[in-house]
Amino acid sequence: MALSGLQIYKLLPGGLKPPHPKANCKECGYPTCLAFAMKLAAKQAELSACKYVTDEARRELESASAPPIRLITLSADGNKMEVGNETVLFRHEKTFYHPTGLFVRVRDTQPRAEIEAFVRQVETFSVDYVGIALRLNGFAVEAASGNANTFADCVATVATMSKLPLILMAKDASVLAAGAKRTTGRTSLLYAAEASNWQAMAAVAKEQKCPLVVRHDDDLGALAALAEQVKGAGIEDIVLDPGARGARASLHALTHIRRLALKKNFRPLGYPAIAFPGEGTSDPELESLLAGQQIAKYAGIVVLDHFRPATAYALLVLRQNLFTDPQKPIQVEPGIYPLNNPQPDSPVLVTTNFSITYFSVANELESAGYPAWLLVADAEGMSVLTAWAAGKFDADKIVKTVRGTGIADKVNRRVVIIPGHVAVLLGELEEELPDWRVLVGPREAVDIGAFLKTLPARLG
Ligand code: SF4
Repeated sequence: MALSGLQIYKLLPGGLKPPHPKANCKECGYPTCLAFAMKLAAKQAELSACKYVTDEARRELESASAPPIRLITLSADGNKMEVGNETVLFRHEKTFYHPTGLFVRVRDTQPRAEIEAFVRQVETFSVDYVGIALRLNGFAVEAASGNANTFADCVATVATMSKLPLILMAKDASVLAAGAKRTTGRTSLLYAAEASNWQAMAAVAKEQKCPLVVRHDDDLGALAALAEQVKGAGIEDIVLDPGARGARASLHALTHIRRLALKKNFRPLGYPAIAFPGEGTSDPELESLLAGQQIAKYAGIVVLDHFRPATAYALLVLRQNLFTDPQKPIQVEPGIYPLNNPQPDSPVLVTTNFSITYFSVANELESAGYPAWLLVADAEGMSVLTAWAAGKFDADKIVKTVRGTGIADKVNRRVVIIPGHVAVLLGELEEELPDWRVLVGPREAVDIGAFLKTLPARLG
């Protein structure tokens, strides 16, 4: 839990009893230790600026400033995935930072051709959602055979075909090590240290420099104690598996872990959690529903046993919506967007750079089949009406967009269509764009096709 300025001050040279001889020496750049403490509390200064903090106080201050849920990073061939470091229970309190990692599981007992086809399908699966490419994060490879060579070969196959991060799963530490050795240059997640094998699993994780899952079923106290033991063995990067698999048990366990980490600053459970919805049900539809629940509350990583584009699409979009900052609208780049191969005599339409607005307009234009130039103004990611009300999409902004994008060089017929919601700007625009004919388009994107049909008649 973050310390207040006064709590920090008590640990600095000036706050000690008796004060350190260097108290208030100003070497940190602040006039007093108290002023420095206040800056530290506001995260506007670095503790390293004071050379006179005792080792004990430094440990306490560093531990207090550590994130309540540790950030865990997996990587492969330049693809990085981070989970953890969350600070709130509810998205509206601030934002969720690191989207739940979505993995799909393959088992080393599956035929090689089947694994290859599966990896290829998942690797190339991508959803275009308001201009953002959404993808799954990686593969979990399980040593279902229990054989080190079989597992290592399977890991090598997946690692060769995929540039996505991996989770390696084995019950036996020597089998896990055999697989991990085939993923040089990657940081994979190793699964799992349990009460019966944690020393051996921790040794593999240490040697491979990989994060390790700690699993203890149905007892968060025992899970916390085991995580402390693994940490004591030198493994800092830990992911928790509370073993809860059904919808109710999973919700209960994952919520408790998140609450204890954030509200009680309970360090032994201050790690992201992993969930396996396919172990809670054999029905692929229910697995997707359970995965959705776990994305929302509060899995850092979800490992799916089934991959189907339709349900993967829904999970990716759900995740995207949960892990966007509610205070920052999704935006597209301002500029000129040519749609349906526009020609110099094609009309020019103006809209704002709020993603949903842009895609509503662009989709309607594309499905109507009319070639057009879509001019996107920088309205700070607001929709047309909101931006107009906030003064971000006024006549000046539209004029700057028309002039600044150079659209005049691409057209020989200067006709610009503004959204119907800002019809009030018509007079001002006609004055400021005397070389353009300004038309008022429909209020709703869905009416654009019908509007463009009437354009020849409107233009005479
Ligand atoms: Fe105090 Fe700053 Fe001197 Fe440290 S460096 S003793 S915080 S004044």
